[in-house]
Amino acid sequence: MSTDRYPFREIEAKWQRVWEERKQFRAVEDPGRPKFYCLEMFPYPSGRIHMGHVRVYAIGDLLARYKSMRGFNVLHPMGWDAFGLPAENAAIENGVHPAIWTYENIDYMRSQLKKLGLSYDWDREVATCDPSYYKWEQLIFIKMLERGLAYRRRSTVNWCPSCQTVLANEQVENGRCWRCDSEVTLREIEGWFFKITAYADELLAWCDRLTGWPERVITMQRNWIGRSEGAEFDLTVAGRPELKLRVFTTRPDTGFGVTYAVLAPEHPLVDRLISDDAERRAVAEFRAEVARESEIERLAADRPKRGLRLRAKVVNPFNGAEVPLFIADYVLMGYGTGAIMAVPGEDQRDWDFARQHGLSIVETVARPAGWVGEAYTGDGLKINSGFLDGLTTTEAKRKATDWLVERGIGVAKVNYRLRDWGISRQRYWGAPIPVLYCERDGMVPEAEEKLPVVLPRDVQLSGKGGSPLAEVASFVNATCPKCGGKARRETDTMDTFVESSWYFLRYCSPRYERGMFERTAAEYWMPVDQYIGGIEHAVLHLLYARFYTKVLRDLGMVKVDEPFTALLSQGMVIKDGAKMSKSKGNVVDPDDLIRTFGADTARLFSLFAAPPEKDLDWNDHGVEGASRFLNRVWRFVVTHQPEIVATPAGRSGGAPSTPDGLAFRRTIHETIARVTEDIERDFHFNTAISAIMELVNALYAFETAARDRMPGGERAALLREAVETVLLLLGPFSPHVTEELWEHLGHTQSLFKEPWPTADPAALTRREVTVVLQVDGKVRSRLTLEVDAAEDRVQGLALADEKVRPWLQGRQVERVVVVPNRLVNVVTRS
Ligand SMILES: [Zn+2]
Ligand SMILES: [Zn+2]
Repeated sequence: MSTDRYPFREIEAKWQRVWEERKQFRAVEDPGRPKFYCLEMFPYPSGRIHMGHVRVYAIGDLLARYKSMRGFNVLHPMGWDAFGLPAENAAIENGVHPAIWTYENIDYMRSQLKKLGLSYDWDREVATCDPSYYKWEQLIFIKMLERGLAYRRRSTVNWCPSCQTVLANEQVENGRCWRCDSEVTLREIEGWFFKITAYADELLAWCDRLTGWPERVITMQRNWIGRSEGAEFDLTVAGRPELKLRVFTTRPDTGFGVTYAVLAPEHPLVDRLISDDAERRAVAEFRAEVARESEIERLAADRPKRGLRLRAKVVNPFNGAEVPLFIADYVLMGYGTGAIMAVPGEDQRDWDFARQHGLSIVETVARPAGWVGEAYTGDGLKINSGFLDGLTTTEAKRKATDWLVERGIGVAKVNYRLRDWGISRQRYWGAPIPVLYCERDGMVPEAEEKLPVVLPRDVQLSGKGGSPLAEVASFVNATCPKCGGKARRETDTMDTFVESSWYFLRYCSPRYERGMFERTAAEYWMPVDQYIGGIEHAVLHLLYARFYTKVLRDLGMVKVDEPFTALLSQGMVIKDGAKMSKSKGNVVDPDDLIRTFGADTARLFSLFAAPPEKDLDWNDHGVEGASRFLNRVWRFVVTHQPEIVATPAGRSGGAPSTPDGLAFRRTIHETIARVTEDIERDFHFNTAISAIMELVNALYAFETAARDRMPGGERAALLREAVETVLLLLGPFSPHVTEELWEHLGHTQSLFKEPWPTADPAALTRREVTVVLQVDGKVRSRLTLEVDAAEDRVQGLALADEKVRPWLQGRQVERVVVVPNRLVNVVTRS
């Protein structure tokens, strides 16, 4: 442990205590002041914070403190996304109850966050596993049930064999579980859904209006919602007009190019089309093969498609041709209608399949000159298309749709890729779904006055599968709220993403007991002005929260259409080229870092090492550099404290009288302008810190240079202005050391109650001086230029001066003497 470090331990503990005693970050609604709701995605209480947490909270804290200094009434809360599987799995492994495990983790992580000195209003802390929290989402669940926005159905869902539960589509990434990375399988199961598809149009439309969001997140949401316009129509089975298969296409204009059709192997029509035992066996065999493939494999563009030709054919309604019918792995029952028309001329996947199976290909769009591709998906004039010939693609789409509608064969249709959000989880540690099943009344919601339906504590967690709640007789056996008879409680719990879909609203009035949140508080604070969190939630949490907010709006509870005005998605923290993880052994423990260098250094480094949206590559030298810088600031202020405190001038001291003084003051104010702009625009915290570092270098240089050359009062006033500016600008990055030094300078009010400095326009203008130009000691001209112009520039201007040049003719310039801001003497030799 080096001894030349400033006493960060004492300082950090002291200010964390003082801020808490003063309730400095308590947020109170104040309609007279503009508000700023600054929010970082709340953590899962896994046990310990990691460097990724330090990074995202340092960003949030910087913005919260900065906005507060800019005059905003800031709300900056923190809480815990406390339900979820790790607690339950830990319980199965170690026999600790999930509640105990969770609350112990929360206590420990809270103490870690407090050691970072984050400006949270801890009075607003919430934990989503608390019945006083989830009670309200149970109430909303019942209201959604009444409106058909929550429903139960049997369907094929994603099943994680390791987590032993259903997953929503958003929770499956590349065929794997978002949480545990196991391969996801499909399973037919009864479960609860939220009807997010009812909001597909609006969720999509608002993508264009979320201008404060990163474009890549918006693009991911747009693609996930996946709106496509087209037509849906029937193909009839040849010779059996009573059998129809419904298909959707975005390209009804290509109807004349339909040379075959495909059904999903699971399509219910398949069994009715089978003509004999041989075909039945072939179909069964094919289905078994397909069942071994994952959904992702089946949809992958780059692998060969497997298909089985059926004996039945279908009729292309556009030209009456009978075309082959297949079942193939690349058509899935869960997507669209489970059947497609195939147009190999204009669809690459169909082209590949057609070539593989020797099917005919009809081009229905004229190719551009020199086209050498295979399927052509671009626009062009229609060919080989009967009544559509000669039309553009757009015209033909409309006309083909009209034609289908007129004949009663089809309809215009908008399709979405988005599917309803499956929220049933067959696990224990979640919010109970507040419904019962009565023998007489069927499914009945719990009576509102009986909420919350509390998760029972006495449960056996075996990890053997099945909802653990089903084994808790005292929970399962209940009374029907409708008839008072015997009823059985629902034993699935809600997806934990339901809790995180509205926690930002609960923060507005976290202790409110008469509703989910207090209306006036939510109206004042919402929407969140700046949300900060990882890109991994681009289509998970961020989509669910948008949906849930719109549901609450339509229930008349909130006025906002969207929860988050602006979003910052920070990159990961990596080390040795990989994301920090226990298994890779490249984890840096924030506790160690804080113990060795202090929280201010940890925060400064994580803000300095990379722009926030980029990955942060960990390096120990960078941490040491950040520590050295803070020590350098500390030493300067402590050393010069007597001189600075003695000066009465303060920051608004008058204009300096000397060129050195003017130049230094300009540096101070240029730094204010740069740092402010870097924070405001694109969150360039790293370059903001560089600017502050440069100012500190300039401060050291000025102090040395000004020791003899400047009136003492002016020197002291400038030192004070510079030092106070450094502390104010650096405060939101490294709050403890700056607050301590601020106090050293004699201030009794917190640094964070000071207004953010503004650049003085008078200090920024470069003053001009007149410089005398001599040739061999004789005055030949004068030059007006800015104070402290660079020597090269002054030389160049002098030698190029019109009145100087004639005196240089036929002579050689031996040297040029520049006396800054006064004169230039050109010494020549003939
Ligand atoms: Zn899993
Ligand atoms: Zn009943």
